Amino acid sequence: MPQFDVIVIGAGPAGSCAAYRLARGGARVAMLDRAVFPRDKPCGGGITLRGLHHLPIDVTPVVEDVIVTAELGFGQGERFERTADQPVVFMTQRRRLDAHLAEQAVAAGVDFRDGVRVRTIDMAGAGGTVRTDAGSLTGAVVIGADGCNGVSAKALGLGGGLTYGVAYEGNVGWDVLDHDYWRGRLLLEFATVPGGYGWVFPKGEHANFGVGGWAGEGPRLRQHLAELCGRYDVPPEAVTAVRGYRLPLRDPRSPVAAGRALVIGDAAGLVDPMSGDGMFEAFLSSRLAAGAVGDLLEGRTTDLAGYTPLLNGALSRHRAISWGGKLLFDRWPKFAGRVARSRWLWPKVVRRIRGDGYQGVHSPGSARAELLARALYRPHRGD
Ligand SMILES: Cc1cc2nc3c(=O)[nH]c(=O)nc-3n(C[C@H](O)[C@H](O)[C@H](O)COP(=O)(O)OP(=O)(O)OC[C@H]3O[C@@H](n4cnc5c(N)ncnc54)[C@H](O)[C@@H]3O)c2cc1C
Repeated sequence: MPQFDVIVIGAGPAGSCAAYRLARGGARVAMLDRAVFPRDKPCGGGITLRGLHHLPIDVTPVVEDVIVTAELGFGQGERFERTADQPVVFMTQRRRLDAHLAEQAVAAGVDFRDGVRVRTIDMAGAGGTVRTDAGSLTGAVVIGADGCNGVSAKALGLGGGLTYGVAYEGNVGWDVLDHDYWRGRLLLEFATVPGGYGWVFPKGEHANFGVGGWAGEGPRLRQHLAELCGRYDVPPEAVTAVRGYRLPLRDPRSPVAAGRALVIGDAAGLVDPMSGDGMFEAFLSSRLAAGAVGDLLEGRTTDLAGYTPLLNGALSRHRAISWGGKLLFDRWPKFAGRVARSRWLWPKVVRRIRGDGYQGVHSPGSARAELLARALYRPHRGD
């Protein structure tokens, strides 16, 4: 008899939300994280409205700004702005968000063990054995939610075929910037970083400045960040807590579940190819995973194989559009800039950020669209 129904490895947004949902459904859940909480994670901390739809937990206590205005730039030249009729992005800091989600999971009954690093996972028979620095645990199901530097995807033979982006970010205090100008506003600056973009996201105590692009752009990201800051008269010494991290991009042909194990969030490589967002995908995949695991625990299914087509159905159309947009922005930035300025596009962008039209709808054919869009992009990428 396993000690737990479910062992969740990793307590980021994906892990905490999956653990929370399963514990609320009555499962005995252990959640392990190698970091001691509260811990930080390099991230812009922007949660889109489409991400919020899939969050089972109220995050109002850790939201520091709500965005209605987007300032958009193409190249280093002039900017223009667009305003939505409702908040579309919610700004938080990962140290606060992740601690809050983990606390809510604990309140739902999850046995959370932080400061515990998972070393190996053995899936055999009716469940899995997870070996950690602090001993072994057994569970009927194992969920890998340990991000792009974790061990679970490899140990479980899931994921694979990943390509990587990389992002680099730091914080600038309101003593250097005009808080009144940035409140409720974000900046996205395209066509300056190959395979990515620059951003400014306002928070309570500071603004987050960041740049992301293909992994091959890594050695130049420091320079890209300095240039972005320079365009807003921010001197290099005013940028604090600077750090970088990888962005994993999944091949939709790779399995994300087998037997009694599955992977979610960054562990499954679900970062959006164009925006670099991963929290919507973390929340959505944790929701789908919790449903699939619940079905297994309650005897409606005999394994978790159904999760892979479910995830593809929910995300592939979204990802196909992202690959297409990325191709347009990287390959024909001037044309993309003209398209982005057109008034008809903005309502469509808002609908996309709101997540209208893809609330986890299952359409099994759509992985093909993602593969096609990804293949079209392939010759132009710089990774
Ligand atoms: C610079 C940057 C900016 C970004 N900005 C945004 C943004 O504004 N909006 C957005 O939506 N997304 C953004 N993303 C993407 C987003 O940060 C990720 O997609 C998101 O963190 C994925 O959540 P997760 O729960 O899957 O993984 P993570 O948040 O990476 O959590 C994984 C957890 O697993 C733990 N772990 C790892 N290995 C082990 C182990 N062996 N044993 C136990 N525990 C382990 C880690 O300590 C960690 O707590 C950004 C990414 C970067 C790099």
